Amino acid sequence: MNRPAKKVFAASRLPTNTGVSGWVAMLPPRQAKPRLAGRSTADVVIIGGGFAGLSAARRIGDIDRSLRVTVLEAGVIGDAAAGRNSGFIIDLPHDVSSEDYGGDTIAKNREAIEISRTAIALASAVAEEQRWGRTIFDPCGRYSVAISDEGDRHLVKYAEGLAALGERHQLLDARGIADITGVETYTSGLFMPGTVMVQPAAYIHGLADSLRDPVTVYENSPAVRIEGGGGEWTVTTPHGAISTGRIILANNGHAESFGFFESRLLHVFTWASMTRAFDPGRLCGQRNWAATPALPMGTTVRRIAGERGDRILVRSRYSYHAGIEAGNGTLRRAGAKHDQKYSARFPTLADVPMEYRWGGAMALTWNAVPAFGEIERGIFAACGCNGVGATKATANGIAAADLMLGRKSRLTEIFARFEAPRPLPMQPFRTIGAKANLAFKEWRAGAE
Ligand SMILES: Cc1cc2nc3c(=O)[nH]c(=O)nc-3n(C[C@H](O)[C@H](O)[C@H](O)COP(=O)(O)OP(=O)(O)OC[C@H]3O[C@@H](n4cnc5c(N)ncnc54)[C@H](O)[C@@H]3O)c2cc1C
Repeated sequence: MNRPAKKVFAASRLPTNTGVSGWVAMLPPRQAKPRLAGRSTADVVIIGGGFAGLSAARRIGDIDRSLRVTVLEAGVIGDAAAGRNSGFIIDLPHDVSSEDYGGDTIAKNREAIEISRTAIALASAVAEEQRWGRTIFDPCGRYSVAISDEGDRHLVKYAEGLAALGERHQLLDARGIADITGVETYTSGLFMPGTVMVQPAAYIHGLADSLRDPVTVYENSPAVRIEGGGGEWTVTTPHGAISTGRIILANNGHAESFGFFESRLLHVFTWASMTRAFDPGRLCGQRNWAATPALPMGTTVRRIAGERGDRILVRSRYSYHAGIEAGNGTLRRAGAKHDQKYSARFPTLADVPMEYRWGGAMALTWNAVPAFGEIERGIFAACGCNGVGATKATANGIAAADLMLGRKSRLTEIFARFEAPRPLPMQPFRTIGAKANLAFKEWRAGAE
């Protein structure tokens, strides 16, 4: 019998992280898990220890406790995007305020909500099991905030969309949102109770720590080569190799570094800054709140209460990096923009500077679908977070685990109907188009 031809997928690059994440810096020092050394075997190898990879591992453990699962994380858990995001695990789609409230749009939005709530259910189960307090996992909801007439109109329209979906929400006028935020900057707000706010680095560390034998997590163990075929694969790291029948590729944009989804993933970074701790008495309002902008591409703001004082997080700016690597120049430019946004919103905190600044990579697809499915016999992709990856990448991981185990679920049913990611324009048009598009949308967001 002819053996299938051996295939080799070698990583052309490995992830790097720009800047220092305040979320990691706020936590006590942590002992990294060991790196993979020597030769071994596993029933499943998961490449990537972010939301997608760790959620897939968790789901497999929930379904079949006997499977030996190995998770390989290139760097340290929590240092990449999953541990350096703004911590919103959002349940509602960004664009329910569509012109068309017809049956198809409503059905699509309901499915998007179902996907998100499946992800939130996994996160909530871990939080309950690990007995996390509200500093790690807080089901407090979020605000969407406006700063302009256009933003106000957008919130009203979005609220109409939520009403059509039967989703709970509350519109707030300028006074109502000022009572929450302690600042007079916002012209209106919309409260949505279903979002969970996490300390993202603590959440992702805790998710990794919740995995029990026979699930093993290795850090500082980048997969550099996948070779084999016909459902028999060897994954090589700098110090080890592991043979397996099944792989879940959960390394988001770096799937393309192995040649998968070539020219189908748009490598967009976003950026955040966090202030020093300040005396909570300096700012009225609630000590913990989280707000996304009314208009897409605007500025996200969070106030985080801590034992040593409170901090403000500002997340703003998007930039495109075809090589999935961003330098300190982009970090500095994003930081300057954060300072402007911060001083416009918190004039009374002018003497409280930013302490940490960082950025992180996301992988978007042209048609906003995940890069998902069995891409080679025995290799399952859970990539293409499309921005809101705390939710979507978690769902990608759950769905990939279900698909790999042949388990029919609502997620596999919905995911089976997604199109494949569409090819992006050729270079240099892709870079020119992506940069122009991001610049235009940021300009449209204006002060928001
Ligand atoms: C500043 C910022 C704020 C954000 N805010 C939010 C938010 O509030 N809510 C939200 O939903 N989303 C937010 N995001 C986006 C979110 O963080 C991502 O969508 C999410 O992390 C994607 O999850 P993932 O598991 O697919 O990928 P990642 O989190 O990127 O995880 C992939 C992992 O794979 C590893 N890896 C890569 N290559 C290899 C390899 N060869 N071998 C082994 N491991 C490898 C990486 O090191 C990484 O740990 C934000 C992002 C940033 C940067």
